[in-house]
Amino acid sequence: LEDNIARAQGYLARFRETGVLNHIAGVSVPAASGATFDSLSPVDLTVLAPVARGGAEDVDRAVAAAQAAFRGWSQTPGAERRRILIKVAEAIEARAEEIAFTECLDTGQALRFMSKAAIRGAANFRYFADQAPGAEDGAVTRTPTQMNTTSRRPIGPVGVITPWNTPFMLSTWKIAPALAAGCTVVHKPAEFSPLTAKLLVEIAEAAGLPPGVLNVVNGVGEEAGKALTEHPGIRAIAFVGESRTGSRIMAQGAATLKRVHFELGGKNPVIVFDDADLDRAVDAAAFMIYSLNGERCTSSSRLLVQETIYDAFTARVAEVAGRIKVGHPLDPETVVGPLIHPEHEAKVLSYFDTARKEGATIAAGGEKLGAEGCYVAPTLFTQARNDMAIAQEEIFGPVLTAIPFADEAEALALANGTDYGLAAYLWTDDLNRAIRMTDALEAGMMWVNSENIRHLPTPFGGVKASGIGRDGGDWSFDFYMETVNVCFPR
Ligand code: NAD
Repeated sequence: LEDNIARAQGYLARFRETGVLNHIAGVSVPAASGATFDSLSPVDLTVLAPVARGGAEDVDRAVAAAQAAFRGWSQTPGAERRRILIKVAEAIEARAEEIAFTECLDTGQALRFMSKAAIRGAANFRYFADQAPGAEDGAVTRTPTQMNTTSRRPIGPVGVITPWNTPFMLSTWKIAPALAAGCTVVHKPAEFSPLTAKLLVEIAEAAGLPPGVLNVVNGVGEEAGKALTEHPGIRAIAFVGESRTGSRIMAQGAATLKRVHFELGGKNPVIVFDDADLDRAVDAAAFMIYSLNGERCTSSSRLLVQETIYDAFTARVAEVAGRIKVGHPLDPETVVGPLIHPEHEAKVLSYFDTARKEGATIAAGGEKLGAEGCYVAPTLFTQARNDMAIAQEEIFGPVLTAIPFADEAEALALANGTDYGLAAYLWTDDLNRAIRMTDALEAGMMWVNSENIRHLPTPFGGVKASGIGRDGGDWSFDFYMETVNVCFPR
């Protein structure tokens, strides 16, 4: 751990010297106003670095840079874009430790997950790089009197607005397909964890991405974020964050008719029937809420367990929760690190009182740990009902709410009884039941007898208040590209 902390401090030294600057047209620049805000480490609340607090003027400049670069980048042959984006993937791999260590201190998420997230960022670039040469391809349709050619072209400069959880990987999930499609990008990273966005643009340009193709404007949502969503030079906004922020962005973008793609919140159920492989289900239920601090959109924050096994199953999950190592994010043994920020920690802690008031039982955790930093014990609420706030509101921490159900019909009603619909996890040995349940579950993504394993060509996204649009595979290009049709007479 000591060695890791020393290495991480080495990586951070540069940010301490210069601050986290914006990056526009290939140049690192402070905010036009000169304003900054501090990025805190949730480990001990020390200031990691001052960060440029961009506003409308900075967004204007970044959009101008993205517009100027658009012609060249969109007309760069797909094979050449592929070559450059593969170089970006290789450069991410070469600097994966720096990315992971920086992110651990900036977000509090544990190294065991952040090291994989950095590599996954490279995989995102590699995957979409390979799609670049065919991105514009379409179809020819003919009738006796006409021939239609349908193809795609990049939509133009796009805005990417990302949240503070797993920020590097999440931003590559947007930026890589946008660049592969031939779009240019203005990225507004989350104010709580802005460090690795700066690394990404530097890595990408060092690998050959032309200046102005990817620009970064730091700042707070209501300033830089709002200006980006309202800017007439931005054709589309890819946003990941809270559902209510999505609503605001939709309103802000209305005047300029922005295309929007939203990946929003969730209150994802993991549903366990008594015929399931319970050993695996216990592990999966615990992993999907306690890994990544529970600060993960696809975390399974509602545990729905058949009443025949409810007591035994929740006792096992409580036991696992009690054994989880909470500690410094750079300790390779740590599973749960500190939560992102004192404000967010206060929100998560407030649900412990809510649970008591609502009459649920705190079967594990339910307390803050240590005097320094934003550490919260992995928590399990039992004897909860689905109408409680702890079952309806996204807590976004290592906090699981367990609710019993009698039969399939009740499991389904509880699972769907939420405004959200991002992911659902189903554990049963009965294939027919799995088919019936997955047919009726209101979720964009479902996993049967498995955790959140991903295959990049498959669609990722939510229904209801969890989002609009899909990432992954060709779905990403549908968002970052316009489909156009040309009709010829025959
Ligand atoms: P947030 O909505 O508070 O902020 C996200 C981003 O939006 C930040 O960069 C912020 O500065 C910006 N923003 C805020 N107000 C804005 C405005 N008015 N105009 C433009 N931009 C604005 O979310 P957060 O707290 O950073 O992240 C946690 C949330 O993200 C959770 O709800 C989580 O479920 C969600 N999330 C969803 C997915 C998914 O794939 N569905 C993935 C990760 C996180």
